[in-house]
Amino acid sequence: MHSGKTILAVGSIAIDTLETPNGNRKNILGGSASYFSMAAGLLAPVKLVGVVGDDYPEEGWQMFKSRSINTDNVHIESGKTFRWGGKYSDDYTTRDTLFTELGVFEKFSPKIKKEDCTSPLVFLGNIQPDLQLAVAKLTSKAEYIVSDTMNLWIDLFPDRLDEVLSRTTIFLINHEEAQQYTGESDISNAAKKLLAAGPEIVVIKLGAEGAFLATENNEVFIPVYPVEQVLDPTGAGDSFAGGFMGYLAQTNAPDFIDAVVMGSAMASFCVEGFGLESLLLATPMLLNDRVEKIKSCLHEGVRL
Ligand code: AMP
Repeated sequence: MHSGKTILAVGSIAIDTLETPNGNRKNILGGSASYFSMAAGLLAPVKLVGVVGDDYPEEGWQMFKSRSINTDNVHIESGKTFRWGGKYSDDYTTRDTLFTELGVFEKFSPKIKKEDCTSPLVFLGNIQPDLQLAVAKLTSKAEYIVSDTMNLWIDLFPDRLDEVLSRTTIFLINHEEAQQYTGESDISNAAKKLLAAGPEIVVIKLGAEGAFLATENNEVFIPVYPVEQVLDPTGAGDSFAGGFMGYLAQTNAPDFIDAVVMGSAMASFCVEGFGLESLLLATPMLLNDRVEKIKSCLHEGVRL
């Protein structure tokens, strides 16, 4: 049983097909909300909001159960679960989307039990910005609303994303997407533009190079945990968010550098295996070892 604050999380629950330089996987469990909840669920109670089709496998429900994820707000509709296919380049630096089949997502309208709308922490994972907004409006009293997005939504609905940002306390985004959204290649300038759009804190993720944490008055780089071999980076961003928010759930006086360190440590498990497999092997003790390793690389005295 977890004792921390509850995190309410919305995002995709998916069946993924992956092609990587180190192997392929067909029809495996995935989705932004799945990665997020399996990561955050290691540290805090998580309530998931989403939709699946009537083809969603029993293995998925068992996975959520294994980390005590509450799925009362996950609706089962007749039709197909969201499916996504992605292919990585030889050096993993780029990823092409092979296909996106919305299935039951096409008509999804988030419904949240009244008592869950008051959850203190809310994660708006990567889904269509209007769905993120619908959840933000239902949970407007949250202490922290943390959001994420992806290139597709920046391309299609930048104005809707602006509105998501205006309701966001902490915005997590990767470097390429920050550049695409703000038009700024300089990371500090991109962070400043994002902060001006609403969030109090912006974290720009730089893959193996670490993460850049920015507030109005401070900016700091935080390194990653050095994994021996990356097999599949899918879901690393959502696992990062899960670690970051899992940390927030455990404290009343957060140090956001520590939150980023937890996010990086969590993401390091994700990339070591295909899909969710390595994240499922993480334990609080293994996580803590990686947190300490990252902290030992941080310069003394750098604190926000
Ligand atoms: P990430 O690697 O952090 O971008 O997350 C990958 C996960 O996002 C995969 O498991 C996909 O199922 C999911 N995903 C990919 N495209 C979309 C999309 N357009 N909307 C929602 N989730 C998506």
